[in-house]
Amino acid sequence: MDFALTKEEEFLQKSTREFAEREISPLENQIEQEDKIPDDLILKLGKQGLFGIPVEKKYGGMGGRYLDLVLGVEQVAYVSGAVAFMVAVNYLPVIAIEIAGNEEQKAKFLPALVKGKEKSLGSFSFTEHSTGSDPREIYATAQLEGEHYVCNGHKGFTTGASYDGTIVIFLRTGEGTDVSAFIGQKNTEGYSTPPAYPLIGLRGMTVTDIELKNWRIPAANLLGNRGDGFSILLNTIAVGKVDVAGAMLGIAQRALDEAMKYATEKTMRGRPIGNYQMIQYLIAEMAIDVEAGRYLLYRTMSLMDQKKRTLGSCAVAKLFLAQMADRVTQKAVQVHGGYGYTKDFKVERLYRDAKFGGVVEGSNEIQRVIIARELLKL
Ligand SMILES: Cc1cc2nc3c(=O)[nH]c(=O)nc-3n(C[C@H](O)[C@H](O)[C@H](O)COP(=O)(O)OP(=O)(O)OC[C@H]3O[C@@H](n4cnc5c(N)ncnc54)[C@H](O)[C@@H]3O)c2cc1C
Repeated sequence: MDFALTKEEEFLQKSTREFAEREISPLENQIEQEDKIPDDLILKLGKQGLFGIPVEKKYGGMGGRYLDLVLGVEQVAYVSGAVAFMVAVNYLPVIAIEIAGNEEQKAKFLPALVKGKEKSLGSFSFTEHSTGSDPREIYATAQLEGEHYVCNGHKGFTTGASYDGTIVIFLRTGEGTDVSAFIGQKNTEGYSTPPAYPLIGLRGMTVTDIELKNWRIPAANLLGNRGDGFSILLNTIAVGKVDVAGAMLGIAQRALDEAMKYATEKTMRGRPIGNYQMIQYLIAEMAIDVEAGRYLLYRTMSLMDQKKRTLGSCAVAKLFLAQMADRVTQKAVQVHGGYGYTKDFKVERLYRDAKFGGVVEGSNEIQRVIIARELLKL
């Protein structure tokens, strides 16, 4: 099997890292303290092409592979988990529209999502208070009245919901699993968001609930057919999962690099602590985990680019990388000793940021259910 990246992919990695070091790294403390990602950064991410890596050129994208998408997200996450998640989240409506949209919908919505705009971000809303995983527990409704769907109810935990821009939203259109996906515009009449949840990590990224009161969506904005919601959700978050896994890889690689730096610089009894075998053990365990995660993820992306069925493989990669980043960031804190528990070193942020991997795009438990169902053909 050929693990070599193409010249274009190496360039994408290098240019994305340089962009992140230049444009995002200087903002790190500001984002942490103000809990806000500056609005103009969205425009810069768009100009850098990061919102459209695998999107067809005719819609303003780079026309790259899904592997390239993960390479880009990984490099942003090396510098900022929150900004990487912002990039990953904007891809969810993009992928949903690519998968299920008709030509008119693609031409209308994809170019703006790919270009990026100040104070505007794509969102994707499935979760409600009762569930983040079960279509039977979706209660917010969409009722067809003439040329519009009239939407009412409460959606939970939606990243970027308070920004302007396009949202792909899942609403009940009938009994049982009759849930449909729609393309809507945020912050229009009938759509509002309460204050954002205070998060333990990913500071700067806003996650809020959504209140819908007679919010209207043109009937032409139904994605796919009525009742297709759950299948659109599953196919979209298959890509969402590997996006998140890419962010986990970037965070874990950074944690390993920070731990190695500290192990070389911090001395004890006149020698860098990296000379002590228990520190070497931690570093080696971290390196093994990162290496295993990287090639599992890249292989999954290769399968996806070959258009193989990857529902199970994406769940395997997402679960492994979420748990891997959790382990690696925890060990990086440990290598830093007492200083790892302070805000003076990056590893505490990496540790907090890594936690989101086990929850979003399906929790670790739900990934296990998906993996077992795929294997058992249930
Ligand atoms: C930072 C952040 C951003 C988010 N952004 C978005 C977003 O943009 N859009 C969106 O739609 N959602 C978003 N979410 C919601 C997220 O996807 C859900 O939190 C997640 O799917 C879990 O759903 P839940 O919180 O309702 O937990 P529940 O589904 O209530 O689960 C609670 C616990 O039970 C377990 N569990 C549930 N069902 C099963 C089962 N069948 N078998 C075994 N265990 C089970 C879960 O693993 C979990 O441990 C976000 C969440 C966070 C924290």
